[in-house]
Amino acid sequence: MNSIRTALAAFAALIVLTAQAAAGDLSVKKVADNVYAIVGDLGQRSPENLGNNATFGLVLTDAGAVLVDPGGTWKGAERLAAAVRTVTEQPIRIVINSGGQDHRWLGNGYFKAQGARIIASVAAVADQQERADAQLQGLEFLVGKAGLEGTRAVHAGETFGETMSFEFGGTRFELFATGGAHTPGDTVIWLPQRRVAFTGDMVYLDRILGIGSFSDFKNWIPAFDAMAALQPAHIVPGHGNPATLERARADTYAYLVNLNQRVSGVLQDGGSIEDGTAVDQDAFSYLINFDQLARRNAQEVYIQLEFDF
Ligand SMILES: [Zn+2]
Repeated sequence: MNSIRTALAAFAALIVLTAQAAAGDLSVKKVADNVYAIVGDLGQRSPENLGNNATFGLVLTDAGAVLVDPGGTWKGAERLAAAVRTVTEQPIRIVINSGGQDHRWLGNGYFKAQGARIIASVAAVADQQERADAQLQGLEFLVGKAGLEGTRAVHAGETFGETMSFEFGGTRFELFATGGAHTPGDTVIWLPQRRVAFTGDMVYLDRILGIGSFSDFKNWIPAFDAMAALQPAHIVPGHGNPATLERARADTYAYLVNLNQRVSGVLQDGGSIEDGTAVDQDAFSYLINFDQLARRNAQEVYIQLEFDF
């Protein structure tokens, strides 16, 4: 009997080790009981990270696992599934897309093939549809043809407008469409029982956030305020490590407020786009990717605020 038990334990340990190897550079971090963050590469999409350059969420329930975001490619989704297997043997029953960025949805096909339900906001799906071709082209360049193999545009079978809530396996999920922040469909997934907020790309920790033409800079600060009003005990961000609301305020909110104040000041004084791009952001130079993105972000903010002055 004991030898069988020992053999079974060894076998179980082997499964975990195999899953850890297959999970690659994804690191699984416990956030609260039955809640995890799966933290991927903080840098650009690459053949090594298979487009999983983001943070994902995992909730274990009595009815199976719920995954927040499926990874950026089919192979990235496979790797994410391996990361999940390092903490549970539960099948992934539901995948929620927290937005329209590639790593929020292009792994959907893999999990749908495994039988998972996929949920996203109407705005996220619209954004995914609009940018699918461009995202796939970008990924082919960054991740490579081999890394992209099997990846197709597969959208949620269940959508909602502004909010959606449901109970699954004894856990309550509340979904809030932000109305647009980093992307138009950015969604907060709130677990009231654990006071955990999965913020998607609305919150970046450790690395600088990105403001693109698809972002809604003016709505980003109010969207953050609405999330903060929930008073989460834990934030699982779209990029970076899980942390407190205070840290999210430092790395994301304060960054947005600084850009808003300084670029607005330039516009008030009739400054040029070059002046807008050059505003002082040095207080945030500790954020990873600062040199690559800070000036570009300021330029985009200038463009988005220009017509208010
Ligand atoms: Zn992202």
